[in-house]
Amino acid sequence: MSNSPLISYTKLSPNCTKPRNHKIDTITIHCTAGNKNNTAKQIVGLTRFIEYDAKNGASCNYAVGGDGSVALCVDEGNRSWCSSSGTNDHRAVTIEVASNIAGTEVNEAAYAALLNLVTDICKRNGIKKLVWSTSKNDRVNHLNGCNMTVHRDYANKSCPGEWLYSRHAAIAAEVNKRLGATATPTTPSVPSSGTTFKVGDEVTFTGTTHYTSAAATSGPACKPGKAKVTAVSAGAAHPYHLIAVSGGGSTVYGWVNAKDISGATTAAKAVAAGSTVTITAGAVYGGLSSARGAKVPSYVTGSRRYTVKQVAAHNGVQEALLSELNSWVALSYLTVV
Ligand SMILES: [Zn+2]
Repeated sequence: MSNSPLISYTKLSPNCTKPRNHKIDTITIHCTAGNKNNTAKQIVGLTRFIEYDAKNGASCNYAVGGDGSVALCVDEGNRSWCSSSGTNDHRAVTIEVASNIAGTEVNEAAYAALLNLVTDICKRNGIKKLVWSTSKNDRVNHLNGCNMTVHRDYANKSCPGEWLYSRHAAIAAEVNKRLGATATPTTPSVPSSGTTFKVGDEVTFTGTTHYTSAAATSGPACKPGKAKVTAVSAGAAHPYHLIAVSGGGSTVYGWVNAKDISGATTAAKAVAAGSTVTITAGAVYGGLSSARGAKVPSYVTGSRRYTVKQVAAHNGVQEALLSELNSWVALSYLTVV
């Protein structure tokens, strides 16, 4: 059994079971819940990976660093101790991706490297198509062809964190495109609460509690008012991530309940060729050049207007080419004006 040619570093963990007892047919993506800028070498050098501990020791097959580096921690031929389920880890290739502690931030470089790595794993192991489901039952029982699982399926954890969890459908779609798999849409169970709003919508938040994760059981108080939807986690307990709009009276900055949103005050218009847009502060450049992931300077963001020349996906992220800048920026950072 081979390992990925994409690795630039190897530090084999003693915390594994040799060999695995099942053919590789599943991908399980984790978040490190630490420092999102850690390199793959730093991740596989963590104490919990390098020190043998039959009870609390951990490992993964691969680590993806915040700089896009990839390291091998457990040979693909062996079972990593990663997902709190021996059954899962005997059949899955497990991947730890550098994230912040809350699992809400992952660098674009890590995401791009993850897509490359997952594509490579699928190709070498004969996985013709990735199938994701928002139903835990589908995932853990591998129903309807489902072959992506997540750590939270097996333990009381938020892993892989909202950033990666909410992108699982996009990861499957992009990898399948690269594998040449036909995109047979799976039937994700749409929650009854529905995800009426989308990223970029400005809404009226009527609640008084926000949560640090979409699945948290309790959260601190905050003030209601106008806010912007910055992430959506369909089917989660608190499916919308809101950030207060300045001057809107609210202090929300976290995940909220669907019932605590009264409605979009201004539904975000879709970004398309010809749209006039502004760029949200904190945006980074997209595209496929070395500028990808670099911060967009603050004089470019804010009220300045730009014309969208073209919309296209790069590494699975929908991005717009802005005429005045001749640069790509992800749609999630753009607002149509
Ligand atoms: Zn995990």
